[in-house]
Amino acid sequence: KPVIALVGRPNVGKSTLFNRLTSSRDAIVADFAGLTRDRHYGNGKSGKQEYIVIDTGGFEPTAESGIYKEMAKQTRQAVAESDVVIFVVDARAGVNAQDHEIAKYLRRLGKPTVLVANKAEGMTQGLQLVEFFELGLGEVVPVSGAHGQGVRSMLDLALESIPGLAEEDEEAVEADTGVIRLAVAGRPNVGKSTLINAWLGEERLVAFDLPGTTRDTISVPFERGGQKYELIDTAGIRRKGRVFEAIEKFSVVKTLQAIENAHVVLLVLDATQGVTDQDAHIAGYILESGRAVVLAINKWDAVDAYQREQIERQIETRLAFLKFASLHLISAQKRQGLGPVWKSIAQAHASAMRKMSTPVLTRLLMEAVAFQAPTRSGMFRPKMRYAHQGGMNPPVIVIHGNSLEHVPDAYTRFLEGRFRKAFDLVGTPLRIEYKTSE
Ligand code: GDP
Repeated sequence: KPVIALVGRPNVGKSTLFNRLTSSRDAIVADFAGLTRDRHYGNGKSGKQEYIVIDTGGFEPTAESGIYKEMAKQTRQAVAESDVVIFVVDARAGVNAQDHEIAKYLRRLGKPTVLVANKAEGMTQGLQLVEFFELGLGEVVPVSGAHGQGVRSMLDLALESIPGLAEEDEEAVEADTGVIRLAVAGRPNVGKSTLINAWLGEERLVAFDLPGTTRDTISVPFERGGQKYELIDTAGIRRKGRVFEAIEKFSVVKTLQAIENAHVVLLVLDATQGVTDQDAHIAGYILESGRAVVLAINKWDAVDAYQREQIERQIETRLAFLKFASLHLISAQKRQGLGPVWKSIAQAHASAMRKMSTPVLTRLLMEAVAFQAPTRSGMFRPKMRYAHQGGMNPPVIVIHGNSLEHVPDAYTRFLEGRFRKAFDLVGTPLRIEYKTSE
């Protein structure tokens, strides 16, 4: 069971939040208040996820020990026992010296931390909370312990930022619905039908009919190596009985629809033709749609060493914008190199759906800025404050700060490279957006 520690100076409303987190209808409340005088432990439950909350509140300044000393001790012990820290500040009182002390301590420790501004009911989000960014702990979650607003997002964020836990969760979700929707795209005659038929002919792959689909519908669910896939309506191919065959007409709209509906697009090229304009156009659509993509150069069996070198150079120049995608040299007809394509498809899908927590994103951002800060542009010096994930498939990272409209493109690419490496993102576009607050 993960442990959440609530820390913060007195009177910010920790006990109210503690009660919220431990007394929802399906929570098993067990208050071990008697265990220690100053720390409260409670059980809570969110969906299937159970957790333990520690409240460090409830202690009074005493003559013997002085509040700062006592608070530091309570905070240290609770934090040491926890997997994630919820650091509570007072949205109405603003930041004070004690908050800074606690923040400094938490930053040094590097535990996943969610910064929460309590008593935020009725406040306009963002504007009044800007000053809390000074604490260097990223995004502030406005909550109202008294009214319950924001408590759920706070809890979700806290649980999500526990490293092992988020992965377990994600796997559980994937196992439930976990179908990778795959589109095979490419111009006519590159070998799409041959490839699909080669795949579906594999013994390890179990194809079955979805109830309610007609023979014309090209949507084939199948399972391979324990992973479920759905081959979605792929433009330019018709299903005829158990095999697929190419139809002459190439439809841009159908291709776009297939791409939009997919998690991962397998873009097939013909080695004997090189990279044509039409290939580049389709690649462009995929990039615009933000879908994850895997490149397969088919008919590799039919080209000689000279042509191979030519096409590899063409890919580097004409498809430079798909550099993030893995590339496979295959022969659908001879069934060569097809296995590794699956691996890349699964990897691209996992990358496209990656969850990135605010504390980790913010820490990576701060490390990148420390390594190399964005340059001044005229009077403006871009200042980056924190980052959070703005979406999945494709992953979007939103960076908050000031004068960010002046960040040079090269710097954005530098950040992209660092985020890609840290989160092992392969095969998916990654979008970085800037939000400037004045
Ligand atoms: P589609 O229009 O993309 O579905 O292409 P098809 O699968 O119909 O293939 C077009 C032509 O290329 C057919 O004549 C295939 O036999 C041929 N072809 C497909 N894959 C390969 C391959 O790996 N090597 C070679 N040499 N020919 C292939």
